[in-house]
Amino acid sequence: MSDIAKNIYEIEEDIKKHSSNPEKVKFIGVTKYVGIDEMLEVARCGVKVFGENKAQVIKEKQEKFKELGINDIEWHFIGNLQKNKVKYIAEYVNLIHSVNKLSLAQEIDKRAEQNNRKIDVLLEINIAGEESKEGYNLEELYQELPEIMKLKNINIKGLMTMAPFSDDETLVRGVFKKLREIKEELNEKYFNGRLTELSMGMTNDYKIALEEGATLVRIGRKIFQ
Ligand SMILES: *Cc1c(COP(=O)(O)O)cnc(C)c1O
Repeated sequence: MSDIAKNIYEIEEDIKKHSSNPEKVKFIGVTKYVGIDEMLEVARCGVKVFGENKAQVIKEKQEKFKELGINDIEWHFIGNLQKNKVKYIAEYVNLIHSVNKLSLAQEIDKRAEQNNRKIDVLLEINIAGEESKEGYNLEELYQELPEIMKLKNINIKGLMTMAPFSDDETLVRGVFKKLREIKEELNEKYFNGRLTELSMGMTNDYKIALEEGATLVRIGRKIFQ
């Protein structure tokens, strides 16, 4: 087995071990570190969901795969998304993990309509309040949510967060648990159970995230190490 195949196998085993609902978990191969050849190998190993954080790069990679006749890939946008870059991804993106302001949601809605489709999104929450990270604090979220919910061409599927980069497992677990609680609260108050996804967990902390109910884990470094 190649290293990539072995690493992917380990992650898949970890999902079975640490999630109480492993069949509901989607493993997003974060491919921002690599080019097309490595991505082809990841796809050969059965991981057909790619996460990228640069709009022009995901567009080029998506086009390359299309040229190669590979059409069974899901393309997820996972990083900070500038409004003026939405146009590069609106046609094909399967899920945008990082909606963190109303103006961005409005732009995605507009571009979705232009492309005759609806776009699935997650709301990104900055649980720990770190300055260096993107995402809503709860107050802003509750302020903007009614307007976001009026947008007809986006489907809000759940929430995303990034935990602090820390060895303190209690701290990291607390962040993931909090995201799950916010999802439950929003489901009761606004969504009537329609929020199903929790995007949380990266190379450092995905096992903890799975134990706290992650349905989408975004893993890059561990695949390519
Ligand atoms: C890069 C990135 C990841 C993957 O992180 P790894 O530590 O490489 O697993 C996950 N989520 C986001 C938003 C990222 O930018």
